[in-house]
Amino acid sequence: MPSKHNAFIPAPRILLGPGPSDVPPRVLQAMATPLVGHLDPSFLSLMNAVQDGLRGLFRTDNQMTLAISGTGSAGMETCIVNLIEPGDSMLVCVNGVFGKRMTDVAERAGAEVHVLERPWGEVFSIEEIEEALAKHKPKAMGIVHAETSTGAWQPVEQLGALCREHDTLLVLDTVTSLGGVPVEIDEWDVDAVYSGTQKCLSCPPGLAPVSFSSRAMHAITNRQRKVQSWYLDINMLANYWGTERAYHHTAPITMNYALYESLRTIFEEGLEARWARHDLNHRALKAGIHALGMRYTAAEGHQLPTLNAVSIPDGVDDAAVRMTLLEDFGIEIGGGLGAFKGKAWRIGLMGHSSRKSNVFLVLSALEQVLR
Ligand code: PLP
Repeated sequence: MPSKHNAFIPAPRILLGPGPSDVPPRVLQAMATPLVGHLDPSFLSLMNAVQDGLRGLFRTDNQMTLAISGTGSAGMETCIVNLIEPGDSMLVCVNGVFGKRMTDVAERAGAEVHVLERPWGEVFSIEEIEEALAKHKPKAMGIVHAETSTGAWQPVEQLGALCREHDTLLVLDTVTSLGGVPVEIDEWDVDAVYSGTQKCLSCPPGLAPVSFSSRAMHAITNRQRKVQSWYLDINMLANYWGTERAYHHTAPITMNYALYESLRTIFEEGLEARWARHDLNHRALKAGIHALGMRYTAAEGHQLPTLNAVSIPDGVDDAAVRMTLLEDFGIEIGGGLGAFKGKAWRIGLMGHSSRKSNVFLVLSALEQVLR
């Protein structure tokens, strides 16, 4: 690159979109601390602390809990490619972009995929899931806890027990829920769970926390064939994140510093207090959204506190409003994805971005722009 280029100075932004969310200064500061080697004893102890913190965050005792080097999609892929062998059947619940993505990943892993579909913005009932499990008898079932494309909050508390009755492994996407709303991996009997760092954990994108139950690990260690992905093979990663500490790949050291610091902020605040903060700010935003005459796309009772998807009022120019929010107010909100493109805005209140001041700011900016 020619040396005449100036240093990159990002525009000041308040990130209220579907992710990434704002990163607290102390997490950014942690990323500016010197590198150590990825097998340095101090880094290995940081990895242990990250694993402990992730267990606390997922509310699990699962030994196999770690941060995959990659974004949330790498977490999704890790869960699926390790559990699925070519020819295995997998049931995927699709009511938005990320359920759909799961079907694509499962097909690429060689699964015979059965899709249970719901219109966008809706959630699945336990009865229809039970019927599909009984019909297809899948080895694994995948479902999204917080569908970022629609703002729908899927009840999942009873799914683990149901899956066990059908001898099915439950895979749960918690990319937009972990750290923002209750996630109880052991209590809910979830077998494989993944998330991402850039939403309610308020780190930059780059790591995907995952956790596997002993049932899932039994399936993984008894596979007939090697995991199709070398990079995401949990058996090999176990030697790096486990006691052996054998080189597998060079961990993104700085991102692990960030995650460690983020976990510290989360436990200083307290998980329950954090969930309550997300809920309070969501309810304040919702009152304002209703006062502006707008409606949520998901039904009452299934609206995510972390991702507020609202219908764009008739006659309003989606792109023009988002551009004005960005240019005049420095606020990023998200447009609609897939079936909701041009029809919905997605206002994220995640992690460090879930603040009273941001609620007032985005509501008053929207009021100005929509006037
Ligand atoms: N799952 C959900 C629910 C998501 O919201 C996202 C990203 O927005 C992903 C998976 C994929 O994560 P990433 O974009 O970090 O790869």
